[in-house]
Formats: sequence, C-alpha cells, structure tokens
Amino acid sequence: MEKHSMRESVPEEEMLREEREKRERAMEELKAEFQREIAWRDTAIEHLTRLAYTDDLTGLYNRRKFNEEFSRRNKDREGTAAEKEGAQDIFLLLDLDNFKIVNDAFDEGHVGGDRVLKEAARHLFEKIKDIFRKDDLVARYGGEEFAVLLKDADVEQIEKRLRLGLTVMLDKEHVPITFSGGYTVVEPGEDLSEVFARADRALFVAKEDEELPDGRIKRGRNRILPYSPEIENEIMEKREELAEE
Ligand code: GH3
Ligand code: MG
Ligand code: MG
Repeated sequence: MEKHSMRESVPEEEMLREEREKRERAMEELKAEFQREIAWRDTAIEHLTRLAYTDDLTGLYNRRKFNEEFSRRNKDREGTAAEKEGAQDIFLLLDLDNFKIVNDAFDEGHVGGDRVLKEAARHLFEKIKDIFRKDDLVARYGGEEFAVLLKDADVEQIEKRLRLGLTVMLDKEHVPITFSGGYTVVEPGEDLSEVFARADRALFVAKEDEELPDGRIKRGRNRILPYSPEIENEIMEKREELAEE
C-alpha cells in the first residue's frame, strides 16, 4: 500500500510542476503580448502626434503646434528673472510675395503653386537655419504664410541677418520667389494674438510701396521690417489713402 502511494506521489508532483510551468509560460506569453501592445500603442501615438503637428505639404510644424509651443514657452517666461540684456524672443511673420501671380503662372494652377510653396519653405529654412537654435520654431502658419519664433535671440544680430534678404530662386522653375516679413519682440506672458497683430502690421507696411522724402518710390515687398509704434501712423495714412481712392 505504502509502495503504491509513493509511486502515486511522484507523477502528482510532476503534474503539479508541469502545470506550474505551463502557467508560467502562459504568463510570459501574456507579458510579451502586453509589451507588444504597449510598443504598438506608443508607436501609434507618436505617429498620430507627428501627423497632428506637421504640415503635410512642407513637413514643417503646423499652426496648432506653433500655437501650443508658443503658449507654453511664453507662460514659462512670465515672471522669471529679467532676460539677459539684448536676448529676447522674436516673432517673425513671413508671407510669400505675389503668390497669386505664381499660382497663375502654372498651367496646372495650385499643384504647380504647391510645388513652389514646398521649395520656398525649404529654401527659407535653409536660409535661416544658421540663426536657428534647436528649440526655435518655424511653422507654416497658413496658406503661404510662415511663423518663426527665435528664442533668446540677440535682436541686433537677428536684424542684421534678416536684412540680408530672403530672395529665393528656384532652379528648376526659374521663378524668383521673395518673402516679405514683419517681426516684433515678444514680451513675456503676452498672448500670441497681440504679438501676431504687431508682426502682421509690420508685414503690411513691408508689402506697401513707400514714398521717400525726395519723392522717389521705394517698392514694397521683398523686405522684412520690425514693428515700431510709428508703423501705426503709416498704417493710418495708408488706410486714409485707400479710402480716398
Ligand atoms: P502679396 O504679395 O500681397 O502677399 O500677394 P499674394 O498674391 O501672395 O496675395 P495674398 O497673400 O493675399 O494671397 C495669397 C495667395 O496664395 C492666394 C492663394 O491663391 C495662394 N495660396 C494660399 N495657400 C496656398 C496653397 O496652399 N497652395 C497654393 N498653390 N496656393 C496657395
Ligand atoms: Mg498671404
Ligand atoms: Mg502673399
């Protein structure tokens, strides 16, 4: 009888061990599957985030990303110690000149225009990347409009660089493309809407022809101007002129 129970207990132990091992293997498999799921989910989130923040045509950041980054940056800056002298954030708004004409120059219309837009964005980025820091922002903000945030920029340096001009020549198309721009210093804590409005006013003036004191006309466009309170007077005069016409 005793002999019999001894013989019984061995397979029983064996069975239990096998059962335990089976469960452990199942657990391992579940764990591996769980990790695969997490990795898949992380990749999907990364992919969707990139899609949500990228402009399809140019590959630059889009307006949503720019707005979010701007708000985050400027909230953080509010109330912090005064910035290093001369080092301020600069917001620059750029708009392609005469883009309607560019579009019309192509038989295929918008498709051709889109190609130029894509190239122009690439050239723009190339042109300003040496004044860029890795956390500066450049985004396609609207149709043929680009927004740039230069962080802790040396205003004088940036002004000098921007005055070098941003004329773009597209080799394949032989279309000279120019930008006009307006820029302004960003005060910590300001809303983008306030900053945008100032840069947009400077951009408006940059696009306009200008009568010099000697009566000659300085052509508007292909230039980048800083915002200054005097611009308000110029805008008022322009509006009055337009109303008279
Ligand atoms: P300005 O120098 O005054 O800026 O002249 P503009 O012709 O560029 O005038 P405006 O900025 O008012 O018009 C922009 C034009 O750009 C109108 C629209 O047909 C074109 N545009 C806007 N977004 C796109 C786009 O995504 N693709 C193409 N191909 N054209 C676009
Ligand atoms: Mg425009
Ligand atoms: Mg334009």
